[in-house]
Amino acid sequence: MTARLLISDATVVDGTGGPPRPGESVLVEGNRIAAVGPGVTAPEGAPVERIDAAGQTLMPGLIDCHCHISFGEARTQEEQDLYTGVESRTLRSAFNLGKVLRAGVTGFSAPGGSYYIGVALRDAVAAGMLRGPRLTTAGRFITTSNGIADFYPTSVGVPEGSIGTVANTIDEMRAEVRVQIKNGVDFIKIGDTATGEWTAFRRDEIAAITEMAHQLGRSVTIHARGSEAVDFAVSAGVDWIMHGDRMADDVIERLAASGIPLCPTLTLIANLYEWGHLVGVPQHKKDAYQRLLFDCAAPALTKAREAGVAFMAGSDSGFSVTPYGEWHARELELLMTYAGLSSLEAIRAATANGARALGLDQEVGTVQAGRIADLLLVDGDPVADIGVLQDRDRLTVIADGEVQSFDDLDPALRWPYDRNQVIAAGEITQDLVNR
Ligand SMILES: [Zn+2]
Repeated sequence: MTARLLISDATVVDGTGGPPRPGESVLVEGNRIAAVGPGVTAPEGAPVERIDAAGQTLMPGLIDCHCHISFGEARTQEEQDLYTGVESRTLRSAFNLGKVLRAGVTGFSAPGGSYYIGVALRDAVAAGMLRGPRLTTAGRFITTSNGIADFYPTSVGVPEGSIGTVANTIDEMRAEVRVQIKNGVDFIKIGDTATGEWTAFRRDEIAAITEMAHQLGRSVTIHARGSEAVDFAVSAGVDWIMHGDRMADDVIERLAASGIPLCPTLTLIANLYEWGHLVGVPQHKKDAYQRLLFDCAAPALTKAREAGVAFMAGSDSGFSVTPYGEWHARELELLMTYAGLSSLEAIRAATANGARALGLDQEVGTVQAGRIADLLLVDGDPVADIGVLQDRDRLTVIADGEVQSFDDLDPALRWPYDRNQVIAAGEITQDLVNR
């Protein structure tokens, strides 16, 4: 028999950016929304689970378009790339899915990570073997020797466990795209430079990667903090762009005209700048992230919003400064603070717009009859106070039509860190010992 769920008398925020609709009810049948509206009830005589949602807001479940599920909350790049074997990383990632779901995230996109862990998680969730948000995933970032994932001296190279892989010619890039798609990725992640002060790729290289992926029926995204990288990506016709911090005015105009969505991903840099000192981030790094946020990202994103660029929301969860299940919803608040979005626009970025990165923009991301019932019931009014979405105690998560319980999930549980081979934090000089 089809399971039925009736959520009555909620204020519906449907994810499209339209105004809140008080006094509506939503009937879920199986994993789909059967009806939405003021007079919706359950059919007579049929068993139905009922939620009286008076005073609560019903909205689509959050979609985090930037969640690195395989990164494991690493504190250093070496922890991410060298330590923890693939089997342990996979188990750790599987556990962390529950934390992400508990934070109201019913779908996420993993723009790169180690091995094909994302592919395995995606398939296990889809098969009902693992509980977690539905997800799409890239494989290792494709980068050049000048880009984000070639961190170590050439004598070390890029280890197998790295989050990225180096391709320095168009032929190598095409070959990597072929292999990754053969191994089941949903999209290709191009990794330009870490901070965007120069560009690691040539225009024709980004075009070649994109063309190859599209020919094989897959999407492409790019980590592009620099203006030129965004420009190249727009020319190539990538499917969505990450960051865009340093975009020049003419590039913003080209991005807006292209209709390609932008996922700014402010949470990582805002957490570093605001709270980095609490976890040992050096002052010069904190200052650099502050400048990137205030001098580059905020003005560029504000102009992008005014130019009509479509935003997605992504948190860059997966680092120790952005642990799983903690900050996904903070991105909405930051999009309002630094890019000037309204709360309804921020919600749309994190729901309807995000569905594009799941390849499900006709299936999830809005509260509409016929859609999959990935929903969030909020004890409060996120349109008036977006911060309420960060209070996990006020969220009821409905994923694939089922009300989720997290009684069995210990939110404090974390995988033990595989530390670097650090022997000391400083130098034992004569000055030091005689001081
Ligand atoms: Zn990222």
